[in-house]
Amino acid sequence: MNLILLGAPGAGKGTQAELIVEKLGIPSISTGNMLREAMRNGTDLGKQVKQYMDEGSLVPDELILGIVAERVAQPDCANGFILDGVPRTLAQAEALDAKGVRIDHVVSIEVDDSVIEGRMTGRRVCSNCGASYHVVANAPKTEGVCDLCQGSLIIRKDDAPETVRHRLEVYHASTEVLKQYYNQQGKLRLIEGNQDIQSINDQILTVIGAKA
Ligand code: ADP
Ligand code: ADP
Ligand code: ZN
Repeated sequence: MNLILLGAPGAGKGTQAELIVEKLGIPSISTGNMLREAMRNGTDLGKQVKQYMDEGSLVPDELILGIVAERVAQPDCANGFILDGVPRTLAQAEALDAKGVRIDHVVSIEVDDSVIEGRMTGRRVCSNCGASYHVVANAPKTEGVCDLCQGSLIIRKDDAPETVRHRLEVYHASTEVLKQYYNQQGKLRLIEGNQDIQSINDQILTVIGAKA
């Protein structure tokens, strides 16, 4: 089961990816989390991407494709994987096809821009594992602490309202076209994202044929 999760920043891709990981036992590959980890570790990649990420612009395709190709080739991806936040441009989608990365379903979580700001101002992410929480809609068991790994929860710098507005523009300009690309391949599944987390999860599992 090879999945792509599409959707605007804050649509709930990371949240749903975690639930699918629990249900199906396949890994989630979040390019955003991988890039943030590289920045934390001060690697060359981290230094190269910092400015793009801080301003909410896309990181160049060739940097992304390198890390994704390497990751999906690892043994834990043999039975499937979830791509969260990649591809984000037509060039990235075409490159995955060209590399022979098979995709079964592309789930697009549809959320109005007007809903996004509230999601982002309440978002807290684990500084250790990247898990995503919300102070109201998906609060951790202990305030400020990750349920999964006990890491401390932080506010992402790029969740500041001005940066979120730019990220939404980038989404509409560069990423939304992917829906058409995958629709032509017969793989696109649209999910109404203005619903609670569990209802969305049930619908995703249904459209990918994984409902128990
Ligand atoms: P969100 O889903 O909330 O928009 P992500 O964690 O997926 O956030 O992405 C955060 C930032 O990481 C993006 O604004 C961009 O700078 C960079 N990024 C992540 N994935 C990609 C990608 N596939 N292509 C280009 N840039 C990316
Ligand atoms: P993405 O990975 O698409 O950027 P996240 O999964 O991090 O989005 O979700 C963004 C924020 O919205 C987080 O604070 C998350 O807890 C919250 N959230 C996710 N799904 C929902 C939902 N269906 N209803 C309300 N809040 C949600
Ligand atoms: Zn954690």
